[in-house]
Amino acid sequence: MPNTGTSDPDCLFCRIVAGEIRADVVAQSDTALAFRDLNPQAPTHALVVPRSHHADAASLADAEPETVAELVRVARDVAGADGLDEYRLVFNTGAAAGQTVFHTHLHVLAGRAMTWPPG
Ligand code: AMP
Ligand code: ZN
Repeated sequence: MPNTGTSDPDCLFCRIVAGEIRADVVAQSDTALAFRDLNPQAPTHALVVPRSHHADAASLADAEPETVAELVRVARDVAGADGLDEYRLVFNTGAAAGQTVFHTHLHVLAGRAMTWPPG
C-alpha cells in the first residue's frame, strides 16, 4: 500500500502502519488502516489511522482533508463488518481530552449502549 505522507520512526502508529509492530488489522485502504484497540472500551473498539503521520485530526484536515473523510468511511465499514450500524466516533485531541498517542486516530466504539456526556 502506498504511504504518500510523512512518517515518524518513533511513532507507535507509524510503526503499526509500516508493519513493524503487530496489530489486529480489520480494514485498510490506500490512505487508512484500521486495527482493534488493545484495551477495548466496547465490544467493537477499533482505531482508524491515516497512513501518514499527523499529530491530531485538525492537522490531518489541514494537510489531507480527503483522508479525514476516508477515516470516517473506513470507520463505518469496520462497524458494519461487525454487523453494527450505530456507533460512536471519537478524535481525542490533546492530553486534557485524553489523547495519549499523537498520531491521528479515530476511535470506533460500538456494540453497547453509550452514555452522554462522556467522561
Ligand atoms: P488516545 O488515548 O485517544 O490517544 O487513544 C490511544 C489508544 O491506543 C488507546 O485506546 C490505547 O488502548 C490504544 N493503543 C495503544 N497501543 C496500542 C497498540 N499497540 N495496538 C492497538 N491499540 C493500542
Ligand atoms: Zn505516526
